[in-house]
Amino acid sequence: MNDKKKNATKKILVTRATLPPMEEYIEEIASLWESHHITNMGKKHNLLEEKLKEYLRVDQLSLMVNGHMALEMALQAFNLRGEVITTPFTFASTTHAIVRNNLTPVFCDINKDDFTLDVSQLENLITDRTSAILPVHVYGNICDVDEIDRLAKKYGLKVLYDAAHTFGEFYRDRGIGSFGDASAFSFHATKVYNTIEGGAVSFKVPEMYVDLYRLKNFGIRGPENVDWVGGNAKMNEFQAAMGLCNLRHVEEHIAKRKIVSERYRDNLENIAGIQLNIVQKDLVPNYAYVPIVVDESIFGSSRNEIFQALAAEGIGARKYFYPITNSYNCFYNKYDSNATPTALYISKRVLTLPIYGDLDLKEVDRICRIIIQLKKAV
Ligand SMILES: *Cc1c(COP(=O)(O)O)cnc(C)c1O
Repeated sequence: MNDKKKNATKKILVTRATLPPMEEYIEEIASLWESHHITNMGKKHNLLEEKLKEYLRVDQLSLMVNGHMALEMALQAFNLRGEVITTPFTFASTTHAIVRNNLTPVFCDINKDDFTLDVSQLENLITDRTSAILPVHVYGNICDVDEIDRLAKKYGLKVLYDAAHTFGEFYRDRGIGSFGDASAFSFHATKVYNTIEGGAVSFKVPEMYVDLYRLKNFGIRGPENVDWVGGNAKMNEFQAAMGLCNLRHVEEHIAKRKIVSERYRDNLENIAGIQLNIVQKDLVPNYAYVPIVVDESIFGSSRNEIFQALAAEGIGARKYFYPITNSYNCFYNKYDSNATPTALYISKRVLTLPIYGDLDLKEVDRICRIIIQLKKAV
């Protein structure tokens, strides 16, 4: 195949894992062949915790094997009962973390412009069974942290943010992980920053470090004392080494995403029927996602038609988040997705477009052309 042909058939996925230069990773892991200490809170694990606290501007942080276990372990550490108010407009992980902790999710609807919890509906959902709120900073858009904080204080609730989309974001000069009682980050390959798989909990009270340390290691307190039913959520040294390498490049990588993201905006911002992501005040964003919401009654074609047209050209957009979690088969007949009409509405119309630092701007233009060609008079 000549180069031209190769390019013409090149598939573009919705995202692509960032890797450091190969030599850099090899150098980083070389010492592991000397120490043979490849997991169980090793040197690289501990160093990465320190580096991430500094980078994310949080006081406390505990690394985890992935973002999902960060959510599960943080919830378990809070020792909750009853109901947790959350959003259905999220990845499976958020809701599953609640249910797998034997807690009951109570679904609150979302805002139409930033897709985070509609806090005006929050207070109505609080009962004497409510023990926590688990909001999601969707696509890196941050929740109304002030109002959530106010309500949590008023009713004595814990707040755990799903911060999987917000690596390296700052709000009013504060690290995003410093809001609420705790925040769970994901360092999965598909996220802005990765440790292959990985995650972390950032939190407020220092005592939680020991709780999480035990919980992620089977609840073991000492060699002859296991006093908590923990799990195994330890980040290993190869993951931590990837994290140390990728952290050296993450700022440069986010800067490249910014250029890609702005190119989408330039192409699509005046297309009637296409809603672009909001630009939030006082937020340093990370350009994690490029969501569009397609209103067929104005644009003339549907979200699914755009998805199909892109797929036909080898371009993988993603219906993210669709379906919403309160309509999953595993929860059949338990929840009513009609009770969160905005989340339901958005989930049927949203599409996230490909973005990663090295995505060629010509490809961005091509993706936008394919979309714009589907505009029809209505
Ligand atoms: C990715 C993601 C998770 C889970 O993180 P993993 O590292 O894949 O386990 C949780 N919540 C949201 C919103 C996510 O996007």
